[in-house]
Amino acid sequence: MGIKREATVEEALMRDKRRRRYRSRILNEIEAEMETVSERLRVNAEAVNMWRCGSGYKQRFSAHETWWLLRMARERCNWSRSIWFSKATPKFAFVAWLAASNRLSTMDRITQWDPGADATCVLCKREPESRNHLFFECSFSNQLWEHLTKGILLSDYTNAWLSILEIISDEGMKKKKRFCLRYALQAALHALWWERDKIKYNEKPSPIGATMKMVDKGIRNKLSILRSKRVKGWENGLQFWFSTRI
Ligand SMILES: [Zn+2]
Repeated sequence: MGIKREATVEEALMRDKRRRRYRSRILNEIEAEMETVSERLRVNAEAVNMWRCGSGYKQRFSAHETWWLLRMARERCNWSRSIWFSKATPKFAFVAWLAASNRLSTMDRITQWDPGADATCVLCKREPESRNHLFFECSFSNQLWEHLTKGILLSDYTNAWLSILEIISDEGMKKKKRFCLRYALQAALHALWWERDKIKYNEKPSPIGATMKMVDKGIRNKLSILRSKRVKGWENGLQFWFSTRI
């Protein structure tokens, strides 16, 4: 698609505007989606010539603004509020949005146009890969999800995708619990999708223990940043996270 693996959402949207056609339906869908977002950004830019942000206007485009635009556009879906939530990390939210819309190029989708492709999940190397398998029926993925959330969900713990979406969409949940679950979900999705891609490109797989450590550390860093920025209500976020480690 002309997008580097390490590209940010901003870089992906700002690449050259040549319309591309692919054999794969999912790639065409992603291309169309990106064009829609770019178009929306262009219309906005022509109207005001500058980007509006909380404290005024600025000329530089940023992924953060893109994220907000997407957030507004997707408000109709009942899970969208739990994906595009305040203080989320845009690159995590983007993968989560693709997963929730079932638009990730998982092997069950790829084999629809390429029946000869090997559909086996590269993480567990046993079951066929699909969105629900990867998140989190897979024996590899489930270990990460359980490590992150079992101490928060306790008897409500589940590894079934639709039940997880339902849980994180519950606006009645206490703020810290809700944020930690939503953030942990997105951090896990991003890490697993990255790991899956890495193995597909013949890179050495990471042991599950290393993946758990990396994602857990990322979540602690996020909570630590919220505390150091003195974000109201986040003084004890890190303590909450530690209290749910079992
Ligand atoms: Zn698997």
